[in-house]
Amino acid sequence: MNSERVFSGIQPSGEIHIGNYLGAVKRWVELCDDHDAIYCVVDDHAITVEYDPSRLPAMTFDASLATMACGLDPEKCTIFVQSHVPEHTELTWLFNTVTPLGSLFRMTQFKDKARNALQRKLTRKEGGAMKTAIHNLKTLGGEALEGLDELKKDLDSLDPDTRDDVAIGETVARMNDRMGNIMQRLQVGLGVAEASTALFGYPVLQAADILLYKATLVPVGEDQEQHLELCREVAQRFNKKFGEVFPVARRIKSEAPRILGLDGKSKMSKSLGNHIGMLDSTEEITAKLKNAYTDPQRIRRSDPGRPEICNVFSIHGFFTEPDVRDELAQGCRKGTIGCFDCKKVLAQSMDAELAPIRDRADHLRRHKGLVIDALDAGRQRCSDIASQTMEEVREVMGVGHGVFAGLGK
Ligand code: SF4
Repeated sequence: MNSERVFSGIQPSGEIHIGNYLGAVKRWVELCDDHDAIYCVVDDHAITVEYDPSRLPAMTFDASLATMACGLDPEKCTIFVQSHVPEHTELTWLFNTVTPLGSLFRMTQFKDKARNALQRKLTRKEGGAMKTAIHNLKTLGGEALEGLDELKKDLDSLDPDTRDDVAIGETVARMNDRMGNIMQRLQVGLGVAEASTALFGYPVLQAADILLYKATLVPVGEDQEQHLELCREVAQRFNKKFGEVFPVARRIKSEAPRILGLDGKSKMSKSLGNHIGMLDSTEEITAKLKNAYTDPQRIRRSDPGRPEICNVFSIHGFFTEPDVRDELAQGCRKGTIGCFDCKKVLAQSMDAELAPIRDRADHLRRHKGLVIDALDAGRQRCSDIASQTMEEVREVMGVGHGVFAGLGK
């Protein structure tokens, strides 16, 4: 076995869709053959946004079951639930001490999530939420701009030749206060202030997930590249301050980095409702594909189409044999096959790959103990590795109950 350790995680959103499968889980399964692979259902990440605590355990279980049904074999890899190994959150706190705020502010995913929350609020019709949000944005934005004017005056008043330390100190302190007020107003106005601190610190928890196991390879999509960069920064800062403890992880690129949803516009996602679930029945797959977005130039069956810009055709690329795909592409370009026929072929090829996965999922659902035992074995192995890493970390950082050992009695 290749000694390199791989780590990755999946959200317990209940259902795994083909975007998750092609972009992540399928690759995870391949990596088990020649790596020490550790995979985690990240429930601690899931609670950084609104969630229903009464449904979370079932969703965590379902995600674990689905990954096993998709081919993760507990005999060949380690699967566990993040919150079952509490060292993840302990290491996150310790990593917070070496993570600059500025690095977290750069994370685009946090800004996207905060922006999406504001947009949801702005488009919500009930309760005058939109009116209030726009009012807040205008008022607070206006106050922030006034604050910037004051800040500029303070800056202009600073004389580089002055020797009056007290005056400089007072001006800089005033500027600091102004800056804090401006940022607070903008954050409240833009909806960022309502996001949880945990959501802001999400990438630090991700760094802890990877580094707790000293994993060197991380199979993640393009959208996680920035978080992995932060993980490398955290490892380097920690090592510089406390000594070499952590490796610097690399990303393994996925062959299917971005799977578009059936709307052909956004990334496939359960919340956008543009997905095909891995455990969808034949009928559900056929029905969902029926409405999938294709080449808009094809209005009549005889209209020549462009498979190269059609999202349905790109999904064929993952499920349909190359010779069948070539035939479909030709028929599409010549206008001799309709989108209905093309989608029917896709439904059949998808079903051929998904039917055995559905069968395995049915089996696991009837024998839940297989999933629970696999997760428990995973927890035990991960707890062993995690406690060794944490002993090292606590020792170099001078925290934890072991620190008095050298003092004598
Ligand atoms: S025939 Fe197939 S490839 Fe061509 S536009 Fe329709 S769905 Fe897309």
